[in-house]
Amino acid sequence: MAETQESASAGQPVQPIQVLYCGVCTFPVEYCEFGSHLTRCKEWLHETHPDLFDKYYSEEALQAKLGTLSLEAQEKLEKDTAKKEAKAEAKAEAAQKKKMASQITIKRIERNKRKFVTSVHGLEAFDVDLKKAAKFFAQKFATGASVTKNPLGNDEIVVQGDVSGDIVEMIEQGVGLLKGVPSDNVVEVEEKKKKGGGD
Ligand SMILES: [Zn+2]
Repeated sequence: MAETQESASAGQPVQPIQVLYCGVCTFPVEYCEFGSHLTRCKEWLHETHPDLFDKYYSEEALQAKLGTLSLEAQEKLEKDTAKKEAKAEAKAEAAQKKKMASQITIKRIERNKRKFVTSVHGLEAFDVDLKKAAKFFAQKFATGASVTKNPLGNDEIVVQGDVSGDIVEMIEQGVGLLKGVPSDNVVEVEEKKKKGGGD
């Protein structure tokens, strides 16, 4: 009899430690609140592990947790969480906006009488490897192409010859590694040789 009682009182089974990592913030799920995406974390947990969701976020669980905090501390906690989330969302949105606003400038530059080069700037914002793109253009047009720094210190591709129209077309058609570059973001510019420049 004593034995049964003992095993009953010692009846907290030792669970193997299993850590579930959050699919949103990648923290162990009990630490999601320290990340910046609590709302999405909760949605994820609710969908994938409803039992754990109840454990951490049910009315009772929250009550038990918040019960130890003063009302003031509770409000501050909620405010801080909302602030952190808003900040993270704003950051992600700004990054996306910046990407979509990035211009690809294709410039036809007159170097000498009837001699042109074409510069292409801004492809890197769309995850295009500039060196590979230069090689691609060189092969496509059987001409010279290289990555150089423009006067502003930004990398750009310079292709020998006037191929600006062809490059615009290639972007429109999403040829090769230009796939995914939005043609709406392309701006064509012509740079005339400055009068009396080097003559
Ligand atoms: Zn999380």
